[in-house]
Formats: sequence, C-alpha cells, structure tokens
Amino acid sequence: MKILMTPAASLREPSQKIGEITPAIKKLADEMIKLSLEWEDEHPHEISSALAAPQVGENVRMIVVRNNSEDKSDKEFTALINPRVVSESGRLITDWEGCLSVPALYGKVARRDSVKVAATLLDGTEVKIKADGHLARTMLHEIDHLNGVLFVDKIRGKKKSFARLHTEDGALVPVDYAEIADDADLWGD
Ligand SMILES: [Zn+2]
Repeated sequence: MKILMTPAASLREPSQKIGEITPAIKKLADEMIKLSLEWEDEHPHEISSALAAPQVGENVRMIVVRNNSEDKSDKEFTALINPRVVSESGRLITDWEGCLSVPALYGKVARRDSVKVAATLLDGTEVKIKADGHLARTMLHEIDHLNGVLFVDKIRGKKKSFARLHTEDGALVPVDYAEIADDADLWGD
C-alpha cells in the first residue's frame, strides 16, 4: 500500500460508508498512519496532518487525523469512521492548504473557521468533535476526500491562489494559474 497521487482514480470516486469495524479496517487505519509518518520523514518542510482512505486506494469513509499537527514530535493520530460535518460556523478564512496526493502544490482555500463533526472511533464509540482553526480546515479537507473532492477544485480558475513548495528550503513560490489550468492529471475529468 502507498499514498496515491493525482490522477489516481480512487481520489475522484465517492467512498462507501463503513458498516462494521472489522480487523481489516483497523489494519487499514494503522497502515494509513504509518504511511503518513513515512511521508513526513521524506518531506522535512511539511507536516502530515491527516490522510483519507481513498488516498491509499481504499474508497471507504475513514480518515486519520493528527492529534497535534503543531508538534511534529507528537506522532499520534485518531482514526475517524464515517465522519460527517454536522455544522460549520465562524468566519470564512482563506489560508494555504496542501495535500499528500497533490505533490508540492499549495492553494489558498476559503473555509469556515469552526466545524462540528460526528464520527465513530475504532472501538465503536460515537463522538462529536468541535474543531476550530487548522483542525477545522483539516477535517473539511479530509471529508472532501471521501466525496472525491480535492482542495484544488475549490479554487479552480482563481489567480494568485496557487504556489509550489520549494523542496530545498520550504518556501512557497507563486504559481500562475495559467501554468496549471490545463493539467488534466490535477483536475480529473
Ligand atoms: Zn488531501
């Protein structure tokens, strides 16, 4: 299993609801966390905040989210089964966003600052999570993945909204939208 990049088909397919939390689902969660941390080791200027199952080719509704994405030494993740947005509130904040499946490209995406998400944990516990700021952004980005949506879709056509990460020093270099406007790998069908 590996992290898939655009234009992998599973990134564009809606994912199925998980009925029973089987050992295979738990194994998938472990594998996703392992792959996220391996990716981070290979990308010293970036942090792996979360991963969605379609990013490893499994179209099931599960995401793994870093417990503390501000501290790279904290390598704990929480798996959320069938996560759904209950409500969004707060200000619309436009900020840089990236994706493990869209290498080195970043974009300025507007999202609500506060979100309530309902989900089931791997032990079957039903939870409601109130997330703000970066965590709210992460949750919305990951739940989009379960619907076949990538962050670039939200800003398609917008100039001054894209940048490429300079892998040597981590700087974001502006990308003219015209450069990526016809990139079929990025946008899908
Ligand atoms: Zn992503």
